[in-house]
Amino acid sequence: MSRFLRESFQTLDVYVPGEQPRDKAYIKLNTNESPFPPSAEVLDAVAKEASSLHLYSDPECTALRNTAAAHFGISPENIFCGNGSDEALNFAFLAFCDAKKGMAFPSVSYGFYPVFGALYALNCTQIPLKPDFTIDPADYYGLKQNIVLANPNAPTGLFLSVAQIRGILDANPDNLVVIDEAYIDFGGKSCLPLIREYDNLLVVQTFSKSRSLAGARLGFGFAQPQIIADLNRVKYSTNPYNINRETLAAGEAALRSQSYYDENCKTIIENRRFTTQALTALGFSVLPSMANFIFARHPQIGGETLYRALKENGILVRHFSRKEIADFVRITIGTREQMQALVASVHTILEAGGN
Ligand code: PMP
Repeated sequence: MSRFLRESFQTLDVYVPGEQPRDKAYIKLNTNESPFPPSAEVLDAVAKEASSLHLYSDPECTALRNTAAAHFGISPENIFCGNGSDEALNFAFLAFCDAKKGMAFPSVSYGFYPVFGALYALNCTQIPLKPDFTIDPADYYGLKQNIVLANPNAPTGLFLSVAQIRGILDANPDNLVVIDEAYIDFGGKSCLPLIREYDNLLVVQTFSKSRSLAGARLGFGFAQPQIIADLNRVKYSTNPYNINRETLAAGEAALRSQSYYDENCKTIIENRRFTTQALTALGFSVLPSMANFIFARHPQIGGETLYRALKENGILVRHFSRKEIADFVRITIGTREQMQALVASVHTILEAGGN
């Protein structure tokens, strides 16, 4: 840390992304990426775009927003394109919260929310989950803060219905409610259609998971035009060319390859069922996930011990040291072969007494 760093950054707990080790080839089940490559059409579009890289990208993301509008049945004015959904979330914290009106979110949720809160010195409220790790919508009624909810929640994978989200929106007419749908395509139901009815709703999605574009960095905010205009004010004050040319082309092509991605999501859901059953048979309790990961714990082995033992065996999963969830590991759902390897490895570790 240099002596020039501003004071508020000196004590900031920064976001810690999942590890990306380079020491050997792991079965990587720790950052909720898709195990499937982008579609052939996406690869082709990206290759074609390379010769135009001497020119700036379109700051308005016009072609992508038009294609996305047709795909989602909304208007281009309802769409903000972000450099990953992290950027859309970041801009939402920056645009709509201040020291007076901060953000409320579950105490166990996406680890970036408290980081944004600290970064912007916001007054945030972390609301505990129920003992079964679900969110009680009533805890979010009539707050004096904006609200961000990951749905399905991360890292639990548990899902709130559209009716439950509606309840939260109705009970907070003067607060912005951000629904982070990073994992919505793995069995959940999106709140996107509600943007027509609610001027206090911002739905955030990403192409990092179901669309196999984690490395391209593309996310979306969907809301009524005034909210989108506000996000754009932040974008034009920071980085107008926030989406590079290749990613714009990849995003458009991904929307044209929907059947390929639908098939991949179906496979992930099948593999999730397979893994849940197999781990349950080995004595795990596995939360009923609607995401491309599962959250599981075993009465005989701690989360950190299991994480370390799996890593020894060449399989990476994610462990969080936060007390309420320290018994768990979060396992990304990959190919059937990857999940079979995981189950076999867990079996061996348990037989050896967990060490
Ligand atoms: N929201 C949630 C709940 C996530 O788990 C992630 C992935 N780390 C993101 C948003 C951000 O994803 P990206 O920036 O890759 O779109």
